[in-house]
Amino acid sequence: FQGWANVPMGPPDPIFGISETFKKDSFPKKINLGVGAYRDDTGKPYVLPSVRTAEAEILKQDLDKEYLPMTGDNSFCEEATRMAYGDVYDSISNRLVAAQSVSGTGALLLSSRFFSKFYPSKDIYISNPTWGNHKNVFSNAGLNIKEYRYYNPITKGLDIEGMLSDLSQAPNSSIVLLHACAHNPTGVDPTHAQWNDILRVVRDKGHFVLLDMAYQGFASGDFARDTYATQLFASNNVPMFLCQSFAKNMGLYGERVGCFSSLTASPEEAARFESQLKILVRASYSNPPVHGARIARFILKNNDLRAQWAGEVKGMASRIISMRQALRSILENDLKSKHGWKHITDQIGMFCYTGLTPEQVATLSRDYHIYLTKNGRISIAGINTSNVRYLAEAIHTVTS
Ligand code: PMP
Repeated sequence: FQGWANVPMGPPDPIFGISETFKKDSFPKKINLGVGAYRDDTGKPYVLPSVRTAEAEILKQDLDKEYLPMTGDNSFCEEATRMAYGDVYDSISNRLVAAQSVSGTGALLLSSRFFSKFYPSKDIYISNPTWGNHKNVFSNAGLNIKEYRYYNPITKGLDIEGMLSDLSQAPNSSIVLLHACAHNPTGVDPTHAQWNDILRVVRDKGHFVLLDMAYQGFASGDFARDTYATQLFASNNVPMFLCQSFAKNMGLYGERVGCFSSLTASPEEAARFESQLKILVRASYSNPPVHGARIARFILKNNDLRAQWAGEVKGMASRIISMRQALRSILENDLKSKHGWKHITDQIGMFCYTGLTPEQVATLSRDYHIYLTKNGRISIAGINTSNVRYLAEAIHTVTS
């Protein structure tokens, strides 16, 4: 063996690469708007008080560290899926297969492996644009990445005609990846009427739906309200996978808590599906980690703590909304920016797709120590009352 001479240097990850650069920057007013991780109003990571309480209670129980089953903590999965499928849950639970996953990315990974092993079509349609890692995960599993139109840069809103037309023109039974709520990176979600139109096309074409739900609670501040898409597809018996993450809504980023679920046609099909899912998990990582799922299960199963948690999520969502309003208001009212900034408050969830060009983004980082992804996406969670004016002034200068 002559060493890894054939291994080329790979590019840094567009998002985690930003965090590394940010860390090295010693400028006191630096701002990281790259990574989608919630920060409190002092710019600090936020461990939810409900999570702290659950952890303390779990510690008191002196639990062991035995292996979980391959599909993870079943009771956690039941609570997680009940929360995502809402009122539809009871009518589908006997043909729903669920497995605890290594956060949302792990759920996507299981989906990708299942598709590549068992799904007849290898074409997956993703929104243009989408979260950068979607392409990585699905192309790694050998799937062909296709795009459907989603964002209209002129209106800074949804290109619903383009989206419906592209999904209609895709071959029958294609896989369609949809963001269940709080679309990343655009912050643009379909309205209920538009979701109904998407459902119609998906059903006409016999497409398979992969719902990525990484932000339940972050779109509206209300868990139930964010389940519209999940309930719509499930109640119409669209064959689907759902990938849930508790990274954002429980702030369990590094604990890697997620849930993969598959809505099958019958209990018998569910049993066959589950047997193959276990085989896949066994060969991939054997079984998922215990700690984070214990925290999530504890909160989900304890009524008081669950109510507290819902309030904390609402608090995070509200802080984000108030930062959107502050940023827009300073740009428009104080600085008299000529650009329209209405989209900052129209868009929802953790991100805003600002419309800043790659050159403007480069100037922001070089001259102002403000870091964001090249596509102009900013994580609103990185903004606070102390840095919003500095940010607005910098944006105003680079766009004037
Ligand atoms: N999907 C989308 C659209 C996301 O934005 C994210 C988080 N950035 C994920 C999935 C998964 O994240 P995690 O693996 O941390 O749960």
